[in-house]
Amino acid sequence: MTLEELGWDDTWAAAAEAAAAGAAVTPARITIEHRGAYEAIGAGGPVWAELRGKDYHEARDKRALPTVGDWVLVSGADQGGVSPIHALLPRRSSLVRAAAGEKVAPQPIAANVDVAFVVTSANQDLNVRRIERYLTTVVDGGAAPVILLNKIDLVDDFAPLVARLAEVAPGVPVVPCSAARGDGLDAARAHLGPGRTGVVIGSSGVGKSTLLNRLLGAAAQDVQPVRADDDRGRHTTTRRELFVLAGGGILIDTPGMRELKPWTEPDATGDDALAFDDIAGLAAGCRFGDCSHDREPGCAVRAAVDAGELAADRVAAWRKLHLEQTAQARKRLEKVGAKSLRQRLRDKGVKGE
Ligand code: GDP
Ligand code: ZN
Repeated sequence: MTLEELGWDDTWAAAAEAAAAGAAVTPARITIEHRGAYEAIGAGGPVWAELRGKDYHEARDKRALPTVGDWVLVSGADQGGVSPIHALLPRRSSLVRAAAGEKVAPQPIAANVDVAFVVTSANQDLNVRRIERYLTTVVDGGAAPVILLNKIDLVDDFAPLVARLAEVAPGVPVVPCSAARGDGLDAARAHLGPGRTGVVIGSSGVGKSTLLNRLLGAAAQDVQPVRADDDRGRHTTTRRELFVLAGGGILIDTPGMRELKPWTEPDATGDDALAFDDIAGLAAGCRFGDCSHDREPGCAVRAAVDAGELAADRVAAWRKLHLEQTAQARKRLEKVGAKSLRQRLRDKGVKGE
């Protein structure tokens, strides 16, 4: 495997030259993070890498430590076969989650991601705010978002969903797909391509694992041998976390990726929200994705009330919950000084195709 297949390019080479400052070091990309040690892959194959104690102790928070997807410069292996990490090359992007410990602290879970596939499923009511939060995490992290609208095999017509997503996230590509049937996989892969790194994120159950497996295909190259122990008796993972696609491109799938919940996730999406699935179903027909079913034109929910198909007090109860949730979400967003998703997309130069 060449460095280029792992995402290396001239810009990385220039960054490496500056960071090496003449030292005899070689680049490697982190593939698996262990407690205190890293598996990485360089031009010569897999290497064990370790931060020097001083670098570890001086790290202000986890953002200063290597993570999967990072490029590091390592010097030759010591007698134990471990290569000290000489430098961590400045990241082009990083997906950061708020790790819930005693304190909520930022924790990068993947670095140097070019494209993040945000998966949503066509057979569920679209949770607009959740999608917005995923997209915000991606855009803030410096990666390009692509929405995968999965499970289109389960609906008759997915065009209205695509239209709503386009409203919610102007300029963000939407790829309708079915991991089950194989639809849209090539269109999704087209956003990767040689040397480009992707991740797949989204709520549980939307089909991320199935999509990942389908995107990887049978011919994906594992960059790390799967093994239980290395030759020093050190226990190593049997999980692979960084894959190179047969047709070019890299996919990262770490356990942390699964926990990349948008960190402003509201707490009221559970039972309360589910109790209103009649309204959520009707809301798919509203003209506006964020319709509050109040005075908006083209409101399918009010139309159902007018037609006597839905009780008006159902809508009143929904609106009460909705307003509470919106107020909570707004408070959270204000706390982090968040800009609107639209503003963020504009700032990052995401434009319509
Ligand atoms: P994850 O939690 O996001 O990783 O979701 P999974 O990949 O585990 O998928 C959840 C369920 O949805 C599984 O039963 C899958 O077989 C199913 N599934 C995934 N993709 C599709 C699809 O495109 N169509 C249908 N009908 N089912 C799917
Ligand atoms: Zn409405």
